[in-house]
Amino acid sequence: MLSKLRNDVRELFFPRICPVCEGRLLPDESFICSECLIEFPLLKFEKTDDNQMIRTLWGNIPVAHAVSIFAYRHHSIYHNLLLQIKYRGNARLAQQLGTWAATQIRDLELEEKADVIVPVPLSRRKQWKRGYNQAYHLALGLSKIYQLPVQQWLASKVDRQTQTHMNAQQRIENTQGCYEAKIPESEHGKRILLVDDVMTTGATIIACTNAILEVDKTAEISVFTLALSK
Ligand SMILES: [Zn+2]
Repeated sequence: MLSKLRNDVRELFFPRICPVCEGRLLPDESFICSECLIEFPLLKFEKTDDNQMIRTLWGNIPVAHAVSIFAYRHHSIYHNLLLQIKYRGNARLAQQLGTWAATQIRDLELEEKADVIVPVPLSRRKQWKRGYNQAYHLALGLSKIYQLPVQQWLASKVDRQTQTHMNAQQRIENTQGCYEAKIPESEHGKRILLVDDVMTTGATIIACTNAILEVDKTAEISVFTLALSK
């Protein structure tokens, strides 16, 4: 009774907002409203070892498994989720999305296919400016379901040039050598699940994978991103 009253008061002064449509959440809605959940543009991959995402990466790097949760378009309201976790520092939402995403793809048993979760790092400039890496918080959210450790084994070495006007191949070349991996020798040979918020051309994932394989050739890489850019 008391806790209900406390919740009602909190709701009155700090209404919870759906991060997709920005409408008010009902008390029984957890963090995205029911309507936005119903309309969610889920990708629903049936396999992790052969799908449109992994095919984009195969030509460049060896990847064992790859999965993404939803298709992302700039004009869609679901883009708001990425803006919230990327630019507005909403760490809590990033973790909620990680946990929610892992439950959405429970039947793909990703936890059986990896030993450790490694977030893609921000560039040094962005880390300094924002002080917060959304991929790390997504990784923490995933780890709650998968019960796998999160290790920040990757770091940004140099800042890449702005890629807005580059094609896919130019982006891949521009990103190479931007990351370095530091993996303790005792951890070599692990199955690593690389985590990022969005995959567009795959340039970042490719550069991170190469950085890992440079240090540990025996590592097996799989990839999780919250969204695939269309
Ligand atoms: Zn909504």
